[in-house]
Amino acid sequence: MKRILVIEDEQGIAEVERDYLELEGFEVVVEENGASGLKRALGESFDLLILDLMLPDMDGYAICSRLREEQDIPILIVSAKTEKIDKLRGLGFGADDYITKPFDPAELLARVKAHLARYERIKGSSDRGIDINYRDLTIQPLSRRVFFMGAEVSLTAKEFDLLYYLASNPNRVLSKDKIFSDVWGMQPYGDSGTVVVHLTHVREKIPMDYIETVRGVGYRFTMLSE
Ligand code: CA
Repeated sequence: MKRILVIEDEQGIAEVERDYLELEGFEVVVEENGASGLKRALGESFDLLILDLMLPDMDGYAICSRLREEQDIPILIVSAKTEKIDKLRGLGFGADDYITKPFDPAELLARVKAHLARYERIKGSSDRGIDINYRDLTIQPLSRRVFFMGAEVSLTAKEFDLLYYLASNPNRVLSKDKIFSDVWGMQPYGDSGTVVVHLTHVREKIPMDYIETVRGVGYRFTMLSE
């Protein structure tokens, strides 16, 4: 059974979310404040987090970025804030999606299911060395070949590793340091300029807009639900 954590201080909304999700067969845990919610998220195993932005004791963004340091589960932000800047900020902090109150519970449910399915697909493919196919791009980890718009792209070993790493962690903003330590397998000591150089080469060879620069933060491979 998939476990979903709901961090929400408005009881009425938490109840609606719980009811709809439980009806669909999910196990739902509700926490009413940020600190206890974060503790629970870090200490237990959940498949998805539904996170309210405006909590009495903590900012939802802080929870989001803290959780992202350790966990790879989908994070769906639910908030009354509607300003565009907040939406961008929420996604920049590692959230996968954003829905504003008041929302249609059926819409929430649909998004929960879509994100769970997407994570399963991606996790499954990287675990088993299965190809990643996204729009015009195909990455074959076993043969280490990449195709863009049907034509094979010649990448160096590190360029391949970088592209595969980003595509395996879609919709997450990854800092240069994090990318460097994960792809190069070394602690970054001011070496993360290397990441920029390799990424520039990848972008030249694969002229697509999937890899976004998040100014001052890092990079994100955007993969929208299809
Ligand atoms: Ca709230």
